[in-house]
Amino acid sequence: MKLYNTLTRTKRELAPINPGRAGMYCCGPTVYSFAHIGNMRSYLFMDWLRRSLRFSGTEPFSVMNITDVGHLVSDADEGEDKLAKSAREKEKSPYEIAEEYTAAFFGDIDSLNILRPELTPKATDHIAEMIEFVEVLMQKGYGYEISDGIYFDISKFPGYGKLSRLNLDDQQAGARVEVNDEKRHPADFALWKKAPPEHLMQWPSPWGMGYPGWHIECSAMARKYLGDVFDIHTGGVDHIPVHHENEIAQSEALLGRPAVNVWMHGEFLLVDGGKMSKSLNNNYLLSDLAAKGFTPMHYRFFCANAHYRSKLNFTWDAMQSAKVSYSRLIGILQSHKNGEDKVDLDGYLASFTEAVEDDLNIPKALSILWGMARLPQKSKDIYDMAMKFDEVLGLKLGEEPVTQQADGEILALIEERQAARKNKNFARADEIRDLLKSRGIVLEDTPDGARYSYVK
Ligand code: AMP
Ligand code: ZN
Repeated sequence: MKLYNTLTRTKRELAPINPGRAGMYCCGPTVYSFAHIGNMRSYLFMDWLRRSLRFSGTEPFSVMNITDVGHLVSDADEGEDKLAKSAREKEKSPYEIAEEYTAAFFGDIDSLNILRPELTPKATDHIAEMIEFVEVLMQKGYGYEISDGIYFDISKFPGYGKLSRLNLDDQQAGARVEVNDEKRHPADFALWKKAPPEHLMQWPSPWGMGYPGWHIECSAMARKYLGDVFDIHTGGVDHIPVHHENEIAQSEALLGRPAVNVWMHGEFLLVDGGKMSKSLNNNYLLSDLAAKGFTPMHYRFFCANAHYRSKLNFTWDAMQSAKVSYSRLIGILQSHKNGEDKVDLDGYLASFTEAVEDDLNIPKALSILWGMARLPQKSKDIYDMAMKFDEVLGLKLGEEPVTQQADGEILALIEERQAARKNKNFARADEIRDLLKSRGIVLEDTPDGARYSYVK
């Protein structure tokens, strides 16, 4: 299996530390809000990686964190904790927020047929490991204390910047970081933040009450569950310059050697050629797709048509084409299901495997499946081979395409609830919220109306 390593910028054969098994860490969601379809593209990449490894004979053992504390509004340690902010705005506790959005997240990934990682540890369950990690860094002279927390001193780690290959001065000049005068270098990052008394989530530590930095969470949890050194670490490309640079600094400072053998990053999903953002009202959820008649499998199929290292542009037209092609593919495969022709498919299996093992070339693997499906013979062998390919693709190719569950009805209820809220009929609004909840739907009110997701 050849994989592209962001650190070395080369594609190499994976050499697992324990042959036949690959330890993987994937940066998971910050559970303060619904995950949008761009986030989902990153988790689809993780899923295709795990399925491809398994297909090529390497059993993945994956850990994906759930960040329920410490991820600040700006990745560069500025601003409020995302969970605390969401809790304040929604008048709930951060734990309630985390629980609700974690459930929504699992609902989303299950609906996309993303296999759940072997472990999904929560940051708040691992505060002790994080404190211990920071203590060792302090003992080794990599950390220093200032009035608002403990920071990592990047000047002590000469390899800082090697993943992004960014010149630090340029990075800083372009960054909109609020300068903290007490920091020795603007890129020094928080390992531990001291919490003011009113801060909702805080724990005792050798440096007083506080909470962990976002980056230390991943380093500490990866180490706990995968050991000092492991095979693969994944995330989105946005993690390269700050989050993963910082993880590398922390873990290598602690171990005196690299912790990760292969760094892999999934490219972004764009919408209409640009960034997804709340202000443009285009950070769609799976439920927004469902409202227009697209199922999670249509979205998965759409994503399967682009390589994970290429940007992918989302448009409704492209979704429509994906929907049509997906149904067509399933229809063609059905036509083979009871076919009695004999066909030699070894060549197709070999090219499919080659595509998958060439740094996860899922689009090519899919095109090989199309070629096989379009053979003139009608053959159960073709159907069976397609089902084997689907162990990697995860497109549920043997199932009738499902239509989304009663979305019209759900939308009508949401609309009725909006109207009730407008008329200050809060009793009815709450009743509808509970009714939806009993059907496995969680709602979030935004200035542009309610959004929702299915819960598992
Ligand atoms: P977050 O919950 O914000 O930490 O992000 C979860 C994951 O989604 C991370 O791996 C991000 O890199 C990834 N991500 C965020 N936006 C996009 C996007 N537009 N396309 C693909 N992945 C994204
Ligand atoms: Zn991470």
